[in-house]
Amino acid sequence: MNYNKKTVRDVDAAGKKVLLRCDFNVPMAKDGSGVITDDKRIRAALPTIQYLLDQGAAVIACSHMGKPAATFETYVKKQTEKGKDPASLTEEAWKQSLAALSLKPVAARLSELLGREVLMADDVVGPDAQAKAAALQPGQVLLLENTRFEKGETKNDPALAEKLAGMAELYVSDAFGAVHRAHASTAGVAQYLPAVSGFLIQRELEVIGGALANPKRPLVAILGGSKVSSKIGVINNLLEIADTIIIGGGMAYTFSAAQGGQVGDSLLEADWMEYALEMLQKAADKGVKLLLPVDTVCADKFAPDAASQVVKAGQIPDGWQGLDIGPETVSLYCDAVKDAGTVIWNGPMGVFEFPAFAKGTEAVAEALSKTDAITIIGGGDSAAAVQQLGYADKMTHISTGGGASLEFMEGKELPGVACLLDK
Ligand code: ADP
Ligand code: MG
Repeated sequence: MNYNKKTVRDVDAAGKKVLLRCDFNVPMAKDGSGVITDDKRIRAALPTIQYLLDQGAAVIACSHMGKPAATFETYVKKQTEKGKDPASLTEEAWKQSLAALSLKPVAARLSELLGREVLMADDVVGPDAQAKAAALQPGQVLLLENTRFEKGETKNDPALAEKLAGMAELYVSDAFGAVHRAHASTAGVAQYLPAVSGFLIQRELEVIGGALANPKRPLVAILGGSKVSSKIGVINNLLEIADTIIIGGGMAYTFSAAQGGQVGDSLLEADWMEYALEMLQKAADKGVKLLLPVDTVCADKFAPDAASQVVKAGQIPDGWQGLDIGPETVSLYCDAVKDAGTVIWNGPMGVFEFPAFAKGTEAVAEALSKTDAITIIGGGDSAAAVQQLGYADKMTHISTGGGASLEFMEGKELPGVACLLDK
């Protein structure tokens, strides 16, 4: 995939209507009060919006939020699958479910952050959006409703993409969190408008793309998280690129079991043991150093207050489960990143949500904060862990897209990036 894409700086936006795809899929309070519990994603979009406004553009922003049922039929189908009696489902209830996923609270917050009015459309490409977009002046901002209120969005329907494009003269994508999806507003629309990236995507492509295509070596990849099955693509792709691969988290036990270790009640994906052996072989064939835990902190139950003990890897007693890497492994892994040129980290080393089992993840975060290496954090939970443990501003880059960064590291083509103009 070509990562060298045109950005907002490569085009003239002055006097133009710009359709800007953002990732405003922010967490909202569960009580339906419309309170945004974390506005990080809105803040992250500000530099591109501000730049476009400064250039004299009129900004038509759009985003998805959650997973609304775009039609009453799909609402009934989804709720029935969840065990609801179809006879009890009303159009009223469906409309309420949509209202809970309206972008109106985002428009209000964006307006506060920008310090200027943000107009809100009642629909995505309907009469209200069309009229407001047509009347929009340079320096003004309009936010369209949740793009997934249109059933064509997730189907990448060309008719919807064309209507979205019809409101603007330029398409700017800054929704890195959604570039792994070929939807009408993330990819389809680029068929009808010149398409460039905003600053968020530009930075993701520069840093992650740079590390994958031409890393400062040695390149050390730290891979953890819960499951081998969700990280196979990343392990396989990074084995082609990295000098050292470090395995931690729940997936280490599948590797351990594959080598004949006792893993007790630890997370184990028996179906992936053979694959784990293949990866070990591939590493050996390619001369990639692959490090596995040498000890483990195991617990007598999956709980924050579990009793714990440190045991050697592959010697976890029955009834116990590994929830973190052990102290010897910590020093081994911290040594391995010391002289790295680049470190890519995806997946926590243990169940960091429980403080008693966060030590491995914290030690690795601390080690990364002290290296001179380019440090890149991908993956939603890894980013959350680094933030929660207070090391966020010590890293070169924390990706703004969980699923997207994973697919990026798997070496897959990202439809929302591929559709942008090459430099
Ligand atoms: P990311 O979102 O960064 O890609 P994953 O989703 O793959 O990461 O994995 C994160 C989850 O893995 C965390 O919720 C963490 O608790 C869990 N995890 C890490 N180590 C273990 C373990 N030893 N046993 C069970 N779960 C684990
Ligand atoms: Mg995750």
